[in-house]
Amino acid sequence: MTKFSATTPIYYVNAKPHLGHAYTTIVADAVSRWHRLLGEDVHLLTGTDEHGLKIQQAADSAGVSPKEFADSIAPLFAQAWERLNITHDDFIRTTEPRHAAGVKKLLQACYDAGDIEADMYRGQYCVACEAYFIEEELIDGKCPIHMKETTYVEEENYFFRLSRFEDRLLKWYEDHPNAITPGFRMNEVIGFIKGGLHDFSVSRKTLTWGIPLPWDPSHVAYVWFDALANYITAVGYGTDDKAFAENWPVDYHFIGKDIIRFHCVYWPAMLMSAGIEPPKGWAVGGWLLVDGEKMSKTTGNVVNPLDLIDVVGVDGFRYYVLAETTYGNDGDFSDEGLIKRFNSDLANNLGNLAARVATVVEKKCGGIGPASSANSPLAAIAATAVAETAQAWATVQPSKALEATWKLISATNSYLEDNEPWKMEPGDAVNTVMGDALEALRIVTILANPALPTTTQEIWNRIGLTGNITDLRIHADTKWGQYTGGTTVVKGQPLFPRLTV
Ligand SMILES: [Zn+2]
Repeated sequence: MTKFSATTPIYYVNAKPHLGHAYTTIVADAVSRWHRLLGEDVHLLTGTDEHGLKIQQAADSAGVSPKEFADSIAPLFAQAWERLNITHDDFIRTTEPRHAAGVKKLLQACYDAGDIEADMYRGQYCVACEAYFIEEELIDGKCPIHMKETTYVEEENYFFRLSRFEDRLLKWYEDHPNAITPGFRMNEVIGFIKGGLHDFSVSRKTLTWGIPLPWDPSHVAYVWFDALANYITAVGYGTDDKAFAENWPVDYHFIGKDIIRFHCVYWPAMLMSAGIEPPKGWAVGGWLLVDGEKMSKTTGNVVNPLDLIDVVGVDGFRYYVLAETTYGNDGDFSDEGLIKRFNSDLANNLGNLAARVATVVEKKCGGIGPASSANSPLAAIAATAVAETAQAWATVQPSKALEATWKLISATNSYLEDNEPWKMEPGDAVNTVMGDALEALRIVTILANPALPTTTQEIWNRIGLTGNITDLRIHADTKWGQYTGGTTVVKGQPLFPRLTV
């Protein structure tokens, strides 16, 4: 059985889940759902990142221990993913013993390879990033990510000799030219490596909230080294060699563009040092800007995805983030945009199709769905939609995939408008038109299921079909001509009631 595995970043528990977290997670979930429909053995991993200085500081100001603090936030992520219908197979917390065991093994492997060495660090540090910066990277003396003052620090650290990996990384990317999607992100990574790599610190002596280095427990592991390791510790590295051999390397790390350096440069180098194969791929998303700005606690424009669900429903929200933005580019989130897309694509197009099909079947076909015809003009359009949708999901382009699926919805609405079955007398002609519309709708519900898991199943049931869409298979079950009819079609309540701005 073909395997497909994907990961989201593990989210830092210094803040509650926001739109940015939800975005990457929904994309990873929808892509994983598509691969399940292909009949693949899918593994989707998510989790929380719970160590480091920021958590220690947040816990101190809340007057609780760091573990208590993490325990209070981690469930908020698990609950948000449940609410958003995320089908992860595992949720790892970096405070779990299985994770600590793997991190220690990875550190020791890099240390034994001679790639981790003690040294003195002097330079600039951004607490918000938990990262060191060299002078050239600062903008007006400030962290380039947060635009906040960095702190000068001087401390004894263990360093990972990243500078030794330039040639190996370039060679690896040369051999794996499609590893990073979209392609322009690959150029960014190559450019960064060619610009020269600096060793980075992998330990903190002044911090206690972390995983102790196995050979020098007076230091704890740097939070990024600790966090990145989740991708292997969750699948058995350090605890279950057999599981690890079967489940690594992962097909895609889904990440945001702001953490590309850690994921596409540091991480493969750490793995190479430890004698582990790098991931097969990275799918790098842009930012969802809120009214043109990056969400941040400082500007106060943080969007809570759960508030939006109250307005457009879970599927409405999932559809919006998947369809609105080309994955890889920055997107602009706004309430107006959300409502506009909901109304145009869901209320007026898919919702309208489902409702008018049920209405006409009720009035002209006695409420019983007629069978589809073999030589419908919609058959070829459906075949194209299936092929284009499949191609787009395979290359991690959700917006393009949905666009391809929606062409079939629009074509079916046009087909009904051209034929005007609501004006026909009951009989063969109306049965043919409605059987074809039902068949198109049947195919649409399968194709759109990764984006709209609940409402597609609801449409499926309303058009008189049984079983779960998730048990169906792309290609075998999306071929034209499988709506056999003879069952009751139900109209039901509007699935996507039109919203007013
Ligand atoms: Zn920063």
